[in-house]
This record gives sequence, C-alpha cells and structure tokens, in this order.
Amino acid sequence: MPPTPPPIQLTTPVDQIPGVTPRQAMLLRTLGLTNLGRLVAHLPARHEKVEAESSIGDLVADQTVSARGQITATRVVRSGKPRFEAVLHDGTGRLDLVWFNQTFMRDRLVPGVRARVQGKTKRRGPGLQMANPQWEVLPPDDEEPPEHESRMKPIYPANEELKPWLIAKIMAVAAPQALPLIDDHLPEEYRRERHLPELREAYRMQHFAADEAQAAESRRRLAYDELLMLQLGVHMKRAHLRERLKAPALKNNPGIDKHIRERIPFQLTPSQNEVVKEIAEDLSKSVPANRLIQGDVGSGKTVVALYAMLMAVASGHQASLMAPTELLAEQHMASISRMLEGSRVRAELLTSATPRDARESLLERLAAGEVDILIGTHALLTESVRFKSLAVAIIDEQHRFGVVQRAGLRAKASDETTTPHALVMTATPIPRTLAITLFGDLDISSIRGLPPGRKPITTRVSPGKGRTAVYAEIEERLKRGEQAYVVAPAIDGAGTETGATADADAPPLRDCRTIAKELETVYLPGRRVALMHGQLNRAAREDVMDRFRRREIDVLVATTVIEVGVDVPNATAMVVEQADRFGLAQLHQLRGRVGRGAADSVCYLIADPTTDLAAQRLAVLEKTSDGFALAEKDLELRGPGEVFGQRQSGLPPFKVADLVRDRELLGMARRDAAAWIAASPDLAKPEERTIRRRVVKTFGEHLGLADVG
Ligand code: ADP
Ligand code: MG
Repeated sequence: MPPTPPPIQLTTPVDQIPGVTPRQAMLLRTLGLTNLGRLVAHLPARHEKVEAESSIGDLVADQTVSARGQITATRVVRSGKPRFEAVLHDGTGRLDLVWFNQTFMRDRLVPGVRARVQGKTKRRGPGLQMANPQWEVLPPDDEEPPEHESRMKPIYPANEELKPWLIAKIMAVAAPQALPLIDDHLPEEYRRERHLPELREAYRMQHFAADEAQAAESRRRLAYDELLMLQLGVHMKRAHLRERLKAPALKNNPGIDKHIRERIPFQLTPSQNEVVKEIAEDLSKSVPANRLIQGDVGSGKTVVALYAMLMAVASGHQASLMAPTELLAEQHMASISRMLEGSRVRAELLTSATPRDARESLLERLAAGEVDILIGTHALLTESVRFKSLAVAIIDEQHRFGVVQRAGLRAKASDETTTPHALVMTATPIPRTLAITLFGDLDISSIRGLPPGRKPITTRVSPGKGRTAVYAEIEERLKRGEQAYVVAPAIDGAGTETGATADADAPPLRDCRTIAKELETVYLPGRRVALMHGQLNRAAREDVMDRFRRREIDVLVATTVIEVGVDVPNATAMVVEQADRFGLAQLHQLRGRVGRGAADSVCYLIADPTTDLAAQRLAVLEKTSDGFALAEKDLELRGPGEVFGQRQSGLPPFKVADLVRDRELLGMARRDAAAWIAASPDLAKPEERTIRRRVVKTFGEHLGLADVG
C-alpha cells in the first residue's frame, strides 16, 4: 500500500498538489510559483468581462455575445467614414465585422488568422454585423476552451508557455484546496467596520469573480492589506525610534524669533511663516523632528532652512546643510554668509574640493564647537566629520528619497541616544499620496506660491514643423541682448541618455551636438552657441557657465544637467526639444531656469507626441505653473514607477495596491495603522502574531525593520 500523502498545506510544493500535472508544475515553477501558497497568491492583473460564446449560426440580432472563427476576407473602405471590414467564419455561418476609423486593423486581422470578437450583433441586410467589437487574435493551435457563460475572466500575469488561460485552469483545481488554509490576520469586527471581505473570500473572488462587483470588492481588500501592512511597518519603526532616540529641545521664544528675523532681508510670505512655525514647534521638542519641506523652484526654502539652523545656534548647538552638488553648496554658502554678515554666527563650507589643510583645521574647530553652521555636499557624511553638538541637520534638494543619507546624519550625533532634528527640502514636489507612502515616517510642510514680484513664465507647445517660428522668436530676444537655453534629451547621435525616457518604439532622440549645429547653420546663424552636458569635466562646465553668465554665449544647448542650481537672470527663454520625452515635473523644473529676472520669460516645448496621453501632459504644462498641481497630474497620468523610477525611488513593491487609484484606501490604511501602533507599538499581542509576521515578511527588508526585531 502506498503511504498516505501528508495533508495539503500552503507550503506543499506545486508538483504534489492533487490535480496539478507534472508538466503544469514545471511551468508554474518558471513563474516562481513553487508552492500552493505562492500559487494562490498569484493574482490576476485584471479581469475582463467575457460574454458567452456562440456558434455564428446560432447568433441572433441585438445580442451582446462573443464568437470565434477564422478571418476569411478583409478590406479598407476610404469613402465616407474610413473603416476596416472583415468577415469571420466558423463553419456554421458568417459574421460581418466593421471598425470605424481604425484602418490600422488591416495589419492586425489578416485573412487566415483565428480571432475571437465580442460585441453587439446588428441586423444588416440578410446577415448580421458587429460594429467596433473587442477582438483578440488567437494562436493557430488555439487550445483555449470556449466560454459557455458570461463571466469575469481573470487575466493572470503569464509567460510564453504558461498562458493566462492555462493558469486559470490550474487555479480552478488548486485554489479551492488552498482557500480553506488561509488565515485572516484582521479580526472579524475590524473587517466589518470597514466593509472588507474575509481574506480567503477575497482570494476566492479574485480567482473566480462572478461579476465586476466581486472583482472590485476583493481587490479592495487585498490592496488595503498591502497598504495597511506598509503603514504598520512604517509606524512601528517610527515608534521604535522615538522611544530610543532623543534630540536636543531647542529654545523657541519671541526674543529668539525676532533675532532670527532680523537676519532675513525681506518679509517672509504667509506660507513661509506657516512652515517656520511648524518647524519651530518641532525643534522645541526632544522628539527628533523628521520633516519634509517641499516648495516649488524659487519658493524660498533657503531662508526657512536658515531659520531652523539659527534656532540651533541660539540654543548653543550646531547645524548642518547638505546640498547635492558643489555648485549648490557654494551658492548656499554665499547667500547665507551674506545674511549672517555682522553677526557672531560662524558658517563654514566643506566639499570634496576643500584643500586638505583647510579641511583639517575646519574639522578641529567643528569638533570643538567653534563652527556653528556647516554647509557642504555629501562630504559632510564622511567618518572624520565630527560635530560637538549637532542639533539640526538639513538636506537640500533631495530627489532621491533615500533613507540612507538621513541615517548617515543620524549617526553624527554625539552619543548613541541623541540624534539631530532632520529636515529634508525638495523642489520636486512630491504628491501627497506618494509622500505618505514613501515617508510615512516623515511630517510634511509645503511652501505654496512664490515670493512677491515674480513674473510668470509663458509656456507654449509647438510641433516640430513650427521650429522655424520658435527660433525666430528666440532670435528676437537675442537681438534685445537676452539669452536662451535649448534642452535636448541626448548628448550625441549615439543617443547617450540624459534622464529622458528611453522608448524603443519612439523616434530617435534629438541630441545636443546635432541641435547646436542646426542652430549655428540654419536657425540662429552668427549666434554664439555652446554645449553643456554631463560628459564635460568640471573645469569645462564651470568655464561654459562663467562665459554664459558674462554674456559671451548667447545660447546654451544643454541636457538636463541644468535642471537645478543654474541661475542666470538674463536668460529669458528656453526651448525644450522632444519635450514629450521628459516627465512633467522635470519639464517644470527645467523651465524654472528662466523667469529669474525682471523681463518676462518664455518656454517653448517642441514635441510631436505620438499618444494622446503625451499630448495631454504637455497641454497641462501650458495651463499651470503650479508645481504641486503638475506633480499630482504627472503621477495620475504616468504612475509612480514611471515618475520616480521604480528602483532608486525607494518605492515599496506593491502587488495589488496602486498609489494613484487607491488614494482613499491609503489614507484609511494610514489612519488605521497610526491608531493601531499607538495602542500596540510592537504588535506583540498573541492575536497580532499573524499580521506582525506578514508585515515583516512583506516590507521588513524595504523598511529596514531588522532592528525592530
Ligand atoms: P528655493 O526654494 O528654490 O531654494 P530660494 O530659497 O533659493 O528658493 O529663494 C529664491 C529667491 O527668492 C532667493 O533669491 C531668495 O532670496 C528670494 N526670496 C525668498 N523668500 C522671499 C520673500 N519672502 N520675499 C522676497 N524674496 C524672497
Ligand atoms: Mg534651493
């Protein structure tokens, strides 16, 4: 007698699941679906409503159905409304198909292919016709079983061999065995209050949705779970840090406020005042502040940073300001020194370009507390940089939302349990949704609007064939002694990338070298044109920038290297070539290079967008100059992965949740998680074991939960 097989569990390997064939098990493994639990967690990417299939001979008029067969004839008709017509045969009859305005279909549905169509039948003369049906081409060896009833068809992520329909077939056998084994990590009452289905029921409905409502309801539960677990992890970590670490509580009183404001040569805007107030409150507590300050290009973040730093100094501590480039660090040093002139506050600059002797003496004075404010690049993070008492650490223009650097600064504290208050400033407005997700452990302040007296930048989208007119406008400005930037997505003809989106299907990238030649010979003959890009070394770059500032260059043809920190008020015009190859936020950042002087400025976006979406995005730029609104729109149109680049963004890996679609759910998960962790900071109760395990398993690595244990 053969031994009785062990009872089935979620850990049972796929080749031991009753009803799954060895070949199927082998194919499942190619998708990483090695055991029953992983298999049942392989969720449909989406569902499609499939109408019951009929033989063509059985079709009647005015019915929504699907049918399959062979395309036997096609033609394109151009008289009247352009249309594509095809005939579908299945041995029982003939169905006429027509698609209006879609003549490209000619290349997709060619005579001889097998296809399935779905739509509404209409009487036409003696026969039946479907207008604009949904369609799919079937493989020649079409094995997919016919649909006998209308249903929601799960479309699984699949590969060449393991087709979505085959996964569905396996799931029909395997999922019913897995479902009873799935424990819910949320208590029943908790679920009921939030109208969430039970976990195993959610999985069942994903795999076997009867209708749209079931697909949506189950998806909501699973997306909520993902968001909740991330937020639980984030809050758990935060609670843990707060408990362990203290920051110096800084003095916050009207006298100090007045003193600091005397250093600032203008009135703060209401929005700046609000942010300053939030920061001052944070810094006066011994709970380490962790705050993101977002403000559009030119919104005036530097003085806000200075305010925070001077609060540290007023309490006898030190502060640091870290910028992403030497150029930016130097600019900060210059403007802050100007504001500190005549005060006793000692500010110093430290970059990798600081000579060794100067560096050594600087570090000594820093450790002795003789330097109050240290400004620099990531050189500030090196081991040898020791503060006497660092109370406020500011990071400027952090595009990359890494936690690494914040951790580095935290380690600069004088002992194990003290940490500086941390402020991160960014001009790349981060939509609220994303900010919450990425920085669940961060508070957010926003500086809205610009200081008074700024002139708005006019933005115009132009097709490539309008290039001559665009450059004629530029020439007008050059004649008046103004200067211009031209930005392109590539450096050279080899298509060396510069941060624009690579796209295999799109036309080749326009590059700086070619454009510079065109300008010199065709569009702006006689004008002084120079190149600026990341392949130039530092000396060459500085030389070009100096000459541009001294007006010895009329037009700077550049890549996105000029995105931040470049400030030449006499440059009043910008042309972005192939603007559809850049992100909205990036284009906004780029056009922030103009509009810095008294003259009105203009930004031309040259593009021949190939999709509706791309055209829409550019149109948005014409209409709004609000970076926040743009960032929201960009996220909505392109999705977070595209906007921030999945990997370096530090975006958590979601399987179900979608940061754009599930905003409301995210808000709910965030509130729920905050309340949960407030009541049970370690999720240590026995009934929390399952969810705790799942939080750590899903997001532990991402959030660095190791030290939470
Ligand atoms: P960003 O937020 O891009 O870092 P900055 O801090 O560099 O902007 O400020 C841009 C310019 O606006 C600076 O020249 C700064 O002095 C000026 N500025 C900032 N706040 C105000 C204000 N409230 N009134 C007038 N000018 C201001
Ligand atoms: Mg700045």
